[in-house]
Amino acid sequence: MRAFYHPDQSLHDPQQYMRFGQIVAPKDLPERTAQLLAALDRHGVRPEQPADSGVEPILGVHSAEFVDFLQNVWQRWLELPERGPEAWPNTFPYWSGRTDEAMRPPCRPTGLMGQLGWYLGDLSVPVGEHCWISTLRSAQTAVAGADALLAGERAVYALCRPSGHHARADRASGFCYVNNTAIAAQRLRQGFGKVAILDVDAHHGDGTQQIFYCRDDVLTVSIHADPANYYPFFTGYEDERGNGPGEGCNLNLPLPHGAAGHEMNAAIDRAGRAIREFGAEVLVVALGYDAHKDDPIGVLKLETADFGAIGARVKGFGLPTLVVQEGGYAIEAIGGCLDAFLEGFR
Ligand SMILES: [Zn+2]
Repeated sequence: MRAFYHPDQSLHDPQQYMRFGQIVAPKDLPERTAQLLAALDRHGVRPEQPADSGVEPILGVHSAEFVDFLQNVWQRWLELPERGPEAWPNTFPYWSGRTDEAMRPPCRPTGLMGQLGWYLGDLSVPVGEHCWISTLRSAQTAVAGADALLAGERAVYALCRPSGHHARADRASGFCYVNNTAIAAQRLRQGFGKVAILDVDAHHGDGTQQIFYCRDDVLTVSIHADPANYYPFFTGYEDERGNGPGEGCNLNLPLPHGAAGHEMNAAIDRAGRAIREFGAEVLVVALGYDAHKDDPIGVLKLETADFGAIGARVKGFGLPTLVVQEGGYAIEAIGGCLDAFLEGFR
């Protein structure tokens, strides 16, 4: 298996995060990548540095205005006479959320604070000095993985950080700034007619769903904890099936809180049937470890070994596969989860 990672990704070091009404220590620590790199090393996998593919692949799924905002927000923040340590919003827009609209209308405010509220969807995506370069490199890691599959590789792991699956076409949220999984899936369309995305992170892949919701060339499947009382709350329900040409091309499989490995496995088997029926030619797996029982923000109860079963099932689909790293915040556990996944996948 080939793997990609760029050292600039570890520069992103968020300082704050709002949880239950309190500003708390962030959960997406640079240490996460060190743990995952160590796991790769144990398997003899040496990650390659991705090529600088610029912002072009990101613009395949994100609006130019949003990408421009992310690129420049830190410099604009520094111009405020009084400011906190990171660019953070304090107001949020109302938007209808109509599923037949792939994107919101253009952002009307021209000032910084209005744009922060528009483009940053919650208080888990502060923008600090190195946020953009890490975000860019994380996306390029996913793009390099997709390019390897396009060149004939059968299995590639993209060690992305920051994660991506909560980023919508024009909005960052949930520790995610741009959607690495979606960017890679779009890139894969250059060589594959039908792409399937299977998201096994404990949180619904709401950004990925939104980006492809009206399309029939990318199947989006997400297995996650029931969002009725878990982030991202507003989407991830079973009745969200896609819209227009995309009708039937989105599958949400929420699990009850407290669900364990056998429930995850049953959901993956169901996902596998959908992926086969769809006629997918290539697979992108959005792999998070926050379904692990020790995750500090988790509500599912998977054991480390259960990630091996996930790897084995994914392998069983028999498709060229790009694994894109998403969440997982139990620093002591995530290296073992990747170990188990790689074992199972072999
Ligand atoms: Zn997650």
